[in-house]
Amino acid sequence: MVEMFYDKDADLGALKGKTVAVMGYGSQGHAQAQNLHDSGLDVVIGLREGSRRWAQAENDGLKVMTVADAAKAADVIQILLPDEIQSQVYYAEIEPGLEAGNALVFSHGFNIHYNQIVPSKDVDVYMVAPKSPGHLVRRTYNEGAGVPGLIAVYQDATGNARKMALAHAKGVGCTRAGVIETTFREETETDLFGEQVDLCGGVASLIKTSFEVLVEAGYQPEMAYFETLHELKLIVDLIHEGGLEKMWYSVSNTAEYGGLTVGPQVINEESREAMYIALERIQNGEFAREFVLEGQTNHAVLTSMERLENEHPVEVVGKKLRAMMPWLNSELNEE
Ligand code: NDP
Ligand code: MG
Ligand code: MG
Repeated sequence: MVEMFYDKDADLGALKGKTVAVMGYGSQGHAQAQNLHDSGLDVVIGLREGSRRWAQAENDGLKVMTVADAAKAADVIQILLPDEIQSQVYYAEIEPGLEAGNALVFSHGFNIHYNQIVPSKDVDVYMVAPKSPGHLVRRTYNEGAGVPGLIAVYQDATGNARKMALAHAKGVGCTRAGVIETTFREETETDLFGEQVDLCGGVASLIKTSFEVLVEAGYQPEMAYFETLHELKLIVDLIHEGGLEKMWYSVSNTAEYGGLTVGPQVINEESREAMYIALERIQNGEFAREFVLEGQTNHAVLTSMERLENEHPVEVVGKKLRAMMPWLNSELNEE
């Protein structure tokens, strides 16, 4: 069984006296930076000139500088920018401010693992990756809890990288919930696989396709929406709490029998084959190259796909229905 690290295993002292620059104030940036600050660490935020988040970070009580100035000022530089632009910002603005003995920190191994950022040998490189969207990283911290996380050390120039990674995870609140040690390779490949096949890609396709089948067969879209999208959260909550066992226990025998016998026909051997292909493209770098090029072409594909996704009937009917259910927290909280 893998070892879990908790608060007692981590010493914030490893980061005391050091300035931590958090580059970016988006989903992870705003959450991790505020948690680190509230944990008593010396935090500055690096943003580009004119960023609308500049004032927001200042309102949150944080010191804000340009990325280049923050890189110069800091001993520990955490890059929480979108993965596909990190390399460009790193070489233009971060590397010139990096000194021997500094630390570079990531929350996803993409740029290191796929060779988009190649740091000099005299800096520490480690990862602190909360296993959660940013907004929950902040909310759970405020509630006195935390989200689970990962740490990994890629390069240990000072001999302190692992202690700093644990301290960093503590500052973010992850050791309150439990932290597992991994490698940049393992985190990168499993994270990409999970979001493509299961968490984001798989779930979205399952919802859309099952919705389409019901509607094409003549059922009301509102009925299809409730059945294929709305109820999913209730099911996932049960799985999250007690595994599949708790879900199967809670649903009717009819649902349990139908689910156990029909599920494998829907996610079938052909789907397994598609999952292996997705994994292979992650392992051999093809997905990474494609996504880096997507970033360099101003997200040509992503922009179009986002538009098409918003126009999908499940989204159109969903917007109307959610407006009739004001108890749902349906607005997109920016931060
Ligand atoms: P976001 O897309 O939310 O980050 C946006 C931030 O990056 C904004 O502050 C934006 O500033 C800034 N930014 C964008 N372009 C530039 C630029 N050229 N120069 C300077 N600043 C720029 O990122 P995420 O928080 O989603 O992801 C950050 C990292 O965390 C990634 O490595 C990701 O894989 C990882 N991660 C993310 C998770 C998540 O829940 N989102 C979960 C776990 C890991 P501006 O205001 O100027 O636009
Ligand atoms: Mg990810
Ligand atoms: Mg039902």
